[in-house]
Amino acid sequence: MADRTITVNHRGAARLRAGHPWVYRSDLAGSADAAAGTLVSVRDDRGRWLGSALYSSASQIAIRLLSSDDLTEEALPNLLRERIASAVQFRRQIGDDALADLEPRETQGTLCDSYRVIFSEADLLPGLIVDKYNDVISLQALTQAFDRDDLRAVVVESLAEHFPAASIVERVDPHIRDLEQLLARESQLVKGDLSKTIFTLNGVRFHYDALTGQKTGAFLDQRENYAAAERYAHGEALDVFTYQGGFALHLARVCSSVTAVDASRPALEVAEENEKLNRDQHRAGEIEWIEANAFDLLKDYATASRQYDTIVLDPPAFAKTKRAVPTALRGYKELNLRALKMLRSGGTLVTCSCSFHVSEAEFLEMLGSAAADAGRVVRVLERRGASSDHPVLLNVPETAYLKCVICQPLA
Ligand code: SAH
Repeated sequence: MADRTITVNHRGAARLRAGHPWVYRSDLAGSADAAAGTLVSVRDDRGRWLGSALYSSASQIAIRLLSSDDLTEEALPNLLRERIASAVQFRRQIGDDALADLEPRETQGTLCDSYRVIFSEADLLPGLIVDKYNDVISLQALTQAFDRDDLRAVVVESLAEHFPAASIVERVDPHIRDLEQLLARESQLVKGDLSKTIFTLNGVRFHYDALTGQKTGAFLDQRENYAAAERYAHGEALDVFTYQGGFALHLARVCSSVTAVDASRPALEVAEENEKLNRDQHRAGEIEWIEANAFDLLKDYATASRQYDTIVLDPPAFAKTKRAVPTALRGYKELNLRALKMLRSGGTLVTCSCSFHVSEAEFLEMLGSAAADAGRVVRVLERRGASSDHPVLLNVPETAYLKCVICQPLA
């Protein structure tokens, strides 16, 4: 049994029984005296067993359930090893085609060498994110538990076993460390000597720099949506919120011209370098990279009656909290309305939202309202989510955050 027992109130217990692994601090019954990042036993206020969890003394999410079994600290390393092995095995299983080569090799000729290896709750490893970019593995510990030296060592050792030729970098998000009240730490190489690489998604090549690059890395969750967008894209294309060119570089293989917009100059600089890696595949001439505020630019373009055959909208999460949803929906509507006005009939709109707080139903309703205001009849071609390496857990709606709707104005 774990050293400490944490008692949760009725609401906390109901949440765990409904299959969600989190209990918020406000749903703990009484004071919790467990140490930061330790394994705790969880019981309801009548003393009934709920499971074993990892405790955070700082986060609003006080406990993250690991198992309904009665675990001990001694058993924890083995449990983590098993779960990491299952996560890797799951990617091998879904990856027969797209993710076939788990072992790094020359990128040239490779279709896809990058994917999320471990997705926190969705891999029953709450607080741990691991991404593979060709031969560089990026590891992020989001909680006090996964920041423990002993548990980090288990994770690094397991990853090294599964990916023997890869370097491993631990990436640090200072904001998250702050929330978890962890001492500041720099991103650093923890195995091997490679922190930069070139990786491939759907045959498109990208630069990755784990240590000096932008905070985010790439949006691996959009990999299958890039391919889907490319299947429908044609003619003159506009990629709004392009970041390092994820959609734009796919569109350039099939469209006659591509304009890509982002407010971040550093992101666009990487995008231009990425373009050079892929130019031999491009049907379009040079991609036009524009540094601008997307709202202003779409307004200007709409006023100037610009027309496109393909538009991608992939903004950052507008709703970071539930309270922000109405404002977020207004933002999404403004973007989508302008895009729909600028699309030629038979064109393609690929429109995304990564705000977990905005449901797919709300997103579709917003889109319908934008279509009506634009006076367009719009057919939905596909409703999509994140790529299959970002699995969704029933009962953990946070894992189903990404929406991607592909649609077509008919008239
Ligand atoms: N489509 C990208 C991911 C986009 S992430 C991909 O597939 O890789 C969101 C991007 O929106 C970021 O690059 C950020 O710089 C940009 N951004 C945020 N607010 C913006 C604004 N008002 N105008 C233009 N770009 C913005």
